[in-house]
Amino acid sequence: MEQKALACPVCQSNKAEIAGEDVKISGQFQDKAFLTTPLTVLRCTRCGYYMFFDKMAQFTTKEPSSDES
Ligand SMILES: [Zn+2]
Repeated sequence: MEQKALACPVCQSNKAEIAGEDVKISGQFQDKAFLTTPLTVLRCTRCGYYMFFDKMAQFTTKEPSSDES
């Protein structure tokens, strides 16, 4: 798999923590409701910006040790 270097789009920090895994986001746009595929949510530890990635994404940064919920 391709590895991506993590970089916050706001502050360019490469440090983020896992905010959630297998997160599905539901929403509505105009008249259509949608539900995303499971996402991994990372939160920038510097500015708090939330980043969403699909399960295919892998990161060069290590995840926090909370690998089991
Ligand atoms: Zn940031």
